Amino acid sequence: MTKDNVINLVRENIKNLIPYQSARRIGGHGTVCLNANESPIPVFFTLKKKEWNRYPECQPTELISAYANYVNIEYNNVLVTRGADEGIELLIKAFCEPRKDVIVYCPPTYDMYQITANIFDVLARKIPTKKNIWQLDLINIQLNLHSVKIIYICNPNNPTGTIILQNDIIKLLNITAGKALIVVDEAYIEFSLKDSMITYLKKYSHLVILRTLSKAFSLAAIRCGFILANKEVINILNKVISPYPISIPVTDIACQSLESKSIELMKKRVLSNDLNRIWFMEELKTLPCTEKIFDSSANYVLVQFKMCEKIFKELWSKGIILRNQNKKMYLKNCIRISIGTRTECIYVIDELKRFCLKNNIMRNK
Ligand SMILES: *Cc1c(COP(=O)(O)O)cnc(C)c1O
Repeated sequence: MTKDNVINLVRENIKNLIPYQSARRIGGHGTVCLNANESPIPVFFTLKKKEWNRYPECQPTELISAYANYVNIEYNNVLVTRGADEGIELLIKAFCEPRKDVIVYCPPTYDMYQITANIFDVLARKIPTKKNIWQLDLINIQLNLHSVKIIYICNPNNPTGTIILQNDIIKLLNITAGKALIVVDEAYIEFSLKDSMITYLKKYSHLVILRTLSKAFSLAAIRCGFILANKEVINILNKVISPYPISIPVTDIACQSLESKSIELMKKRVLSNDLNRIWFMEELKTLPCTEKIFDSSANYVLVQFKMCEKIFKELWSKGIILRNQNKKMYLKNCIRISIGTRTECIYVIDELKRFCLKNNIMRNK
């Protein structure tokens, strides 16, 4: 077979697919990596298990108990996944008929909802949030519910940092009862715990919550996430999950990270991240090169700059790697900056000040 023939075997929707542009795929070798919303501070665990010849449990009971205990819900309302990204995928796999069913996403938001739908040949219907306030356009969602099986809401929203009004999510739950799943992606919820929808799981059987250990828990490397939902949904997802998705080293480390002393340390990291974000945003406001700093309830901040591309490149060359959002819908001249350690935040501000001086950017605010 020639190479061309092999390409002809590929499914139509995959041939033209633009894959997710993850921070690692985009690359960049920085000394200050503020492009993936990771925790800037590592946590250290050593493996307790020493033998690897046996397969793990499909759903490690100890880990499920630990997470159920942490969030204070029942054991049978929790599924462990290979990161929240696998959660996004399992839901489409189990609930959406290719070329027939539809998912809704509300940009600017996390790209994986749309990309995962495309991979499964499921239509992704775009219903943008209201510009600059980044809240749900409930009227438009309601008018476009035909064939919709899943609505993905990211809360706090990536990349804007916005908390979606809880009343709007509740209205959405009421509009969609019996018709579609509402999936609330709470990847960053530890940075704003009071806004979690978790207490509504009892009331709304079509509510699904995604969680991860990648962000506040500082464990992006182990790839561990959770789906929280009523037990009927969890049972369905258990049918489509791969046989042994969670490796024993992952379970080992994840369980340790959910012990009470580790949770206390996580909460301390969240507090110090909050303080750094507040400091960083105040400093950004004083710089003449910033146009707008969007309010954030997470471990990153969205900033609209003057000379966005130039700033992005200049900082890149200094080893400061940020996430350029300039090409995204509504996000012209915007860069997302993850909140680093205080030293890293100071370094970024100093480099931005230097850039303003060098390029003669004056304040006109
Ligand atoms: C980082 C992120 C994820 C992916 O989390 P993993 O558990 O690392 O797969 C999912 N959703 C949002 C909004 C994220 O920012």
